[in-house]
Parts: sequence; C-alpha cells; structure tokens
Amino acid sequence: MLLLEERIRRDGKVFPGNILKVDSFLNHQIDVRLLEQIGEEFYRLFSADRIDKILTIEASGIGIACIAAQRFGVPVVFAKKTQTKNIAADVYTARVESFTHGKVYDVIVSKEFLHAGERILIIDDFLAKGQALLGLIRLVRSAGAEPVGAGIVIEKGFQDGGDLVRQTGIHLESLAIVESMDDDGTIRFRH
Ligand code: 5GP
Repeated sequence: MLLLEERIRRDGKVFPGNILKVDSFLNHQIDVRLLEQIGEEFYRLFSADRIDKILTIEASGIGIACIAAQRFGVPVVFAKKTQTKNIAADVYTARVESFTHGKVYDVIVSKEFLHAGERILIIDDFLAKGQALLGLIRLVRSAGAEPVGAGIVIEKGFQDGGDLVRQTGIHLESLAIVESMDDDGTIRFRH
C-alpha cells in the first residue's frame, strides 16, 4: 500500500534492536483518515473470505480493527493480555512469548465472544517474529472457530514471523513489508 509506505518513510523512526516506531500515526497518535484507507484495503483483500468477526489484541490493534470492522459490518473482539497466573475457566487462552518486550504473557478471550464455526479475521499492527499472531491463531482454533485470514499493517520482512504464519496456510496480507532498516533511518520495502 503505497500511501502507507510513504507515511512510514516520512514519519517512521528506526530504533536500536530493529524497532520501527510509528507513534505519530499508528501507535500513539492515530491518523484516522489513514486508518480508514487501511480498513478499505483490508476489506478489498478479505471480503471474499466471508468474515464473521474480527479479532485483535490490545492495545494498538483495537483502533485499526474497529475501523476495518465498520467496513465489514462485523463485531470486533480484542484479546486481553494478562500476567500468567490464575486463568478463569470461562476464557480461551494462549501463551505468547514477546521477544520485543522480553516477557511471556497470556492472551485471553471470554468464551462468550468466540464460537465454534465462526470465520475470524485477525488484525494487528505489527508482525515481527510472529508469536503474537500465532498465539491468536491457536486461541481461535481452541474455540473451534476458523482463523481464515490475518491482516497486518506493517510486517518486518527480515524477521521470521511472516514465514511462520504463511506456513500455517492462513491467508496473510501485510499492507507494508519492510525489507530492511538502516541505522541512518533508511527504510526499504519489499514488493
Ligand atoms: P511478534 O510477536 O510478531 O514478534 O511481535 C508482535 C508485537 O510486538 C506487535 O504486535 C507489536 O506490538 C510489537 N512489535 C514488534 N516489532 C515492533 C516494531 O518494530 N515496532 C513496534 N512499534 N512494535 C513492534
């Protein structure tokens, strides 16, 4: 998505450890007009997949998922992150190891909001090593629902998450795939 790539080039900031900060339009301040176009693009890419519900993860995924969901006309459920300890019986859960944040956490969704047979589109802001997305895929499957697609705003193509998720056979679409980031701030995209 050219508009998104241009925005990342203009406003994205490269930090040590291969971290791309997009706080000025996606992760802190939010450019709602841009999100509208992102939602439209996800609709174009996934409308044939007959989506019943969009699943995302708090916090940054929520705004993106909501604007996309408006276009699809489906509800959004966001998985909550919780410290690994007493997990209630009425939730689906998956354990996620975050390399970016250097910790392990559980993601949970109430059994009330995810049902067997539902066709789920998972949406998130970043795909890096893929652990968050793979956790959500496991969680959807544990509910007997079907993870039919995954829509990512920014994939870091030089990390292995994209390959791991594509190996699951899920319809994965990343709107911008960063091929490389240099210390001087130069960002290259894969096409
Ligand atoms: P993964 O599980 O794919 O390694 O990373 C998942 C989460 O880590 C993303 O949803 C995002 O919150 C965070 N993350 C990973 N890499 C980056 C990055 O370069 N920039 C930002 N802003 N977040 C990242």
